[in-house]
Amino acid sequence: MPGKSQEKEKLIDKEGKRVDGRQLDELRPIKLEVGILSSADGSAYIEQGKCKILAAVYGPREAHPKHLALPDRALLQCRYHMAPFSVEERKSPAPSRREVELSKVIRESLEPAVFLEYYPRASIDLFIEVLQADGGTRCAGITVAALALADAGIPMKDLVVACAAGKADGKLVLDLCDSEDKLGEADVPVAFMPTLDAITLLQMDGNLTLEEFEQAVNIALTGCKQIYKLQKEALKAKYVALKEATE
Ligand code: ADP
Repeated sequence: MPGKSQEKEKLIDKEGKRVDGRQLDELRPIKLEVGILSSADGSAYIEQGKCKILAAVYGPREAHPKHLALPDRALLQCRYHMAPFSVEERKSPAPSRREVELSKVIRESLEPAVFLEYYPRASIDLFIEVLQADGGTRCAGITVAALALADAGIPMKDLVVACAAGKADGKLVLDLCDSEDKLGEADVPVAFMPTLDAITLLQMDGNLTLEEFEQAVNIALTGCKQIYKLQKEALKAKYVALKEATE
């Protein structure tokens, strides 16, 4: 894509370490928390490196606007939004074309996991608020949104977990940060349902050979599987804490 700069910035040093000190196949540190908002039906929070994202779910509830209601299944409505203070230069709070596109992409990557047919004419409303962005917000947004849906008690076939792989300084790397995303050669975000072994999102930005593309998808999937474990732990942690509080 035109934004992919070919600048000769050093993204990988002589020791093979990345700009933030990570190995090529290393995820950013991840923190996940479930059920943090009392007024939403479901909620979750993720920190992935410097990214900080909150997801809230309302529903299933009556669809608004009503004419959007579907006769045979629930409508999943998703709004991905970046806070004005989430990036260095103030971002306009009005939805940008990128946010409209990402809202659609995230919705489509989650829909296969939800039993939408259980709630005809209803709406499940999902809000993803990026509080701080540092690359890979669509993937972290999907990971945290799936947790918020599960926290809302919405029946799901599987969790959805997402992670990107890409190419920086000629090397394939896992979980790109902002500078790798902007200055690197390629970015391949993947969303995955681990139990069903099904990919629900596969995009590519930049240039890769067919062989590199296949390797990048596999690297992204290894990241997804690691994050999936953290998702399950975060869900469990909420119920362990609830149990302890009632004992
Ligand atoms: P993703 O966040 O899924 O990687 P993009 O590739 O479109 O999506 O964006 C990459 C990164 O660019 C974002 O994570 C964020 O750090 C940065 N970014 C996006 N929009 C803006 C903006 N309006 N101003 C500054 N940085 C931005």
